[in-house]
Amino acid sequence: MIKFLDLFQINQNHKKELMAAFEQVLDSGWYIMGKHLAAFEQQFATYCGVKHCIGVANGLDALILIIRAYKEMGIFKSGDEIIVPANTYIASILAISANDLVPILVEPSLDSYNLDPLLIEQHITARTVAILPVHLYGQLCNMDAINTIAKKYNLKVIEDCAQSQGAESVKGTKAGNFGDAAGFSFYPGKNLGALGDAGAITTNDEVLAETLRALLNYGSHVKYKNKFKGVNSRLDELQAALLSVKLTGLEVENQARRKVAVRYLNEISNPKIILPNLVSDKAHVWHLFVIRTQNRDELQQYLTANEIQTVIHYPIAPHKQEAYKELGELHLPISEKIHKEVLSLPISPVLSEDEITKIVDAINKY
Ligand SMILES: *Cc1c(COP(=O)(O)O)cnc(C)c1O
Repeated sequence: MIKFLDLFQINQNHKKELMAAFEQVLDSGWYIMGKHLAAFEQQFATYCGVKHCIGVANGLDALILIIRAYKEMGIFKSGDEIIVPANTYIASILAISANDLVPILVEPSLDSYNLDPLLIEQHITARTVAILPVHLYGQLCNMDAINTIAKKYNLKVIEDCAQSQGAESVKGTKAGNFGDAAGFSFYPGKNLGALGDAGAITTNDEVLAETLRALLNYGSHVKYKNKFKGVNSRLDELQAALLSVKLTGLEVENQARRKVAVRYLNEISNPKIILPNLVSDKAHVWHLFVIRTQNRDELQQYLTANEIQTVIHYPIAPHKQEAYKELGELHLPISEKIHKEVLSLPISPVLSEDEITKIVDAINKY
């Protein structure tokens, strides 16, 4: 069976350095909020080209805490609305509801599967406070268009970069540096993955960064003095040290993913299959290679029978989830079509040329 994602192999390639990092943390005797976290935050801020990186426990917390911080800063309040793509992974939407704000679901474009900037303005109301674009599957949204709208209506832009570590515009701006703040996930399967849960926030806003640093640590800037009713969402030393190792390999691994994607794009040729579009080479880091087809479940069964593991990202649209019954009546035909037709092919930095050939041949014979 060709694995959808061979995490074992991805991490084996870094084993020596990861074991050394583990030993350093073990032997330091200091496991929370120490030099390994500070070092990773500095490295990731530099990598993204931003002033501040704040480590947190996971990607969902990163987004929840950004919105929470804007509430504490008096910029957002309960009941305010945030525009979010209707076809995102549900975590982007959960972060809005968790703060008692209202998610406004906007359809994506079928060309990019990202938020369609042409549909944003008609959803802006007097209560809109932010746009939360998601660089889905690893491809940057049209951030020029989104930022222009945000500026016109004085909205915050909060990027969800959980799937897009390292994606870069033609001007060289990296994901996490397009808006007011960005949330990253380092869940093991993401392009930059820890060996457990981990996340981070990037921003150029000093006040926001300070507020976040308190919120994630019980609401405290200074030990035993609490300014906010905060949470515990710290990124621990061990994951930070492991992430510093993985970060050194991110550019090479993203480039390896691009090579897989180029082969799929050039070699898959089947009228039943719709391939993804590429806006610009570096704007995509191919977290997922998502194709569309009419009989998606049948194709998936066929590929399984051919020893090729695939995954559906995602089978149920957020507004059709039981958790969001209140959104169930929304008419979102593009998003529903996407959820019915998408299938993710294996893609990773460790997929071999032979495996790619086998996958291409199977799909072309389908
Ligand atoms: C993975 C993911 C998240 C959540 O990250 P966790 O670290 O799993 O909490 C949020 N948004 C998107 C788009 C994701 O893919």
